[in-house]
Amino acid sequence: MNNNCRKNKKFCLNKLQNDGYRLTNSREAVIQVLSNSQKHLSIEEIFLETKKIHSNAGIASIYRTLDLLVELGFVHKLEFGEGKARYEIINQNNKNINHHHLVCTKCGLIIDYDELLDEEIETSKRTVNKLEKQYEFTIQKHNIQYFGICKNCNK
Ligand SMILES: [Zn+2]
Ligand SMILES: [Zn+2]
Repeated sequence: MNNNCRKNKKFCLNKLQNDGYRLTNSREAVIQVLSNSQKHLSIEEIFLETKKIHSNAGIASIYRTLDLLVELGFVHKLEFGEGKARYEIINQNNKNINHHHLVCTKCGLIIDYDELLDEEIETSKRTVNKLEKQYEFTIQKHNIQYFGICKNCNK
């Protein structure tokens, strides 16, 4: 576990407790699994990994934990067009500078990038402002993903 992971895990656990949520074994295990992973995990993957830490963890409680973590803003729930959700922990060090995704539609490779975020944030702020005014709609979040073919699949 690198420093970042440890920090993310500790942050989530503390925040849960401070907000009055019980730290059950399965909650802690799910948070540990997400903190350890650099990948975007599906529910099946989270389930298998969580089982290794806490063998009694049931799929239903893992679903509930994930919903809670998403609601509290610790975890991103992502859809990459596979018909199933994937989850990744939000880096608590630098909440504003997260990353966006390039998704290969052939092999499912997901590339995280953060080089162009400043420009993207600028543009999306302008877009959000305009849309909110025009449609009297409060935008809470948005999701930038690009779908295409990766280098390997292009060969
Ligand atoms: Zn590919
Ligand atoms: Zn990602």
